[in-house]
Amino acid sequence: MLDKRNFYIDGRWIKPSKTNNLEVINPSNEEPFAIISLGFEEDTNLAIKAAKKAFLKWKETSIKERITLLEKLLKIYKKRFDEMASTISIEMGAPINWSSSAQAASGQSHLEDFILRLKNFNFEEHFDSKSNNYISYEPIGVCGLITPWNWPINQITLKVIPALATGCTMILKPSEIAPISAMLFAEMIDEAGFPSGVFNLVNGDGAGVGSQISSHPDIDLVSFTGSTRAGKLISKNAADTIKRVCLELGGKGGNIVFADSYPDAVRDGIRNVMSNSGQSCDAPTRMLVEKSIYERAIKEAAEEANLINVDLASKTGDHIGPVVSKIQYDKIINLIKSGIKEGATLAAGGPELPNNLNKGYFIKPTIFTHVTNDMEIAKKEIFGPVLSIIPFETEEDAIEITNNTEYGLGNYLQTEDKEKARRVAKKLRSGCVYINGNAADPGTPFGGFRQSGNGREGGVWGLEEYLEIKTITGWK
Ligand code: NAD
Repeated sequence: MLDKRNFYIDGRWIKPSKTNNLEVINPSNEEPFAIISLGFEEDTNLAIKAAKKAFLKWKETSIKERITLLEKLLKIYKKRFDEMASTISIEMGAPINWSSSAQAASGQSHLEDFILRLKNFNFEEHFDSKSNNYISYEPIGVCGLITPWNWPINQITLKVIPALATGCTMILKPSEIAPISAMLFAEMIDEAGFPSGVFNLVNGDGAGVGSQISSHPDIDLVSFTGSTRAGKLISKNAADTIKRVCLELGGKGGNIVFADSYPDAVRDGIRNVMSNSGQSCDAPTRMLVEKSIYERAIKEAAEEANLINVDLASKTGDHIGPVVSKIQYDKIINLIKSGIKEGATLAAGGPELPNNLNKGYFIKPTIFTHVTNDMEIAKKEIFGPVLSIIPFETEEDAIEITNNTEYGLGNYLQTEDKEKARRVAKKLRSGCVYINGNAADPGTPFGGFRQSGNGREGGVWGLEEYLEIKTITGWK
């Protein structure tokens, strides 16, 4: 059992103020593999105090100094890359190959991209050539960073790196369900030699350390990625101190499959939604299929889902792993049962364990067809390997059904017709629209419309979230 009970505060690993242990469970076998502490207010306050003190000097560092430290961190990340991949795999159940090629790789990619953006970012500029005014971009201050378990190092690097790059100091509270990758990352930051107090890590749950961070008067910004439920609580909790609140929340993405994209788009759509065991905020969990190909498409979709293997995270190969926890497992199984009760057709998968497994939080790739957009399975974020397929008649119908959700994170569309693709993409109300499976480039902004959040992470937009903007007159 890994002993990870200390917190990283003011440049040292220190014991928590009181004992409050939590076991971290391996979702492939339901057994604990590590032990952490859940922090108390004293721990949170100590970390915030260290960050506040460190801010006075860190904000004065040059871009060059910060780039040197970030490049050192990147070197260390590459050196310990395999360790990061295996840690994420065991803590949240990502199959080891996927954990390496997607999960751990995302952390490296964000590090590389933010270093590039920082090298080209203008922190100061004249308002215009004739003006006597000057605009200065300055670090916002002490940041509270709260992250989820589903893409742990992706979310952490999307927050910690721009905060470091812009001259902010911070306290990170990773998910208590998958906190070990965050602690490994803290070790890397320590090894890189960032000054004491610039980066601090305190483990804890939402009601404890999470709420203490969001309400604390010395925290200038909270950046949160997680559920819409928690995002609302954090906003309310932060309101009295008027801090900046950046939210990256849930989603219920639509994937519009026009008839001319059949059959590849159907099979790709299934693979896309099932990857990471359906635990991605921008997963295309509602597939909208044009009526003329609907019957053929649902057959194809069920066949493809049945081809996807479910197995232990430690096994190499191309399969999906378990979902992260017993709580998530129960929630997903209940939603599958609700889909059956509501009258949707179960075309693949279902609530039973896969045949090859008798332990662990494993769920078969599940496909519901003949779903209507008012069913629970079409409205709620299920966050598991479950897809709802909904028929549509016209382009207008498809747009209407896709937008008819409280979320707006990632939508997808598939057609050979470029004009139609662009027309539809502009009408979809979401922070990202992916045409024909094209990926977003590193450095493009990621975030949501509506109840999927209000922030943008990645690239220059990711840096700007951590900056205040100051106008100075009489500059010349
Ligand atoms: P969660 O909201 O339960 O927890 C996320 C983090 O918030 C954890 O660290 C948790 O301890 C903390 N937290 C919970 N309640 C809190 C409170 N009241 N105050 C302060 N902190 C609190 O979410 P999760 O189950 O860890 O993650 C899955 C969710 O994250 C999904 O809804 C998914 O869509 C979303 N997500 C969004 C994005 C995005 O970029 N939009 C990316 C990944 C995940």
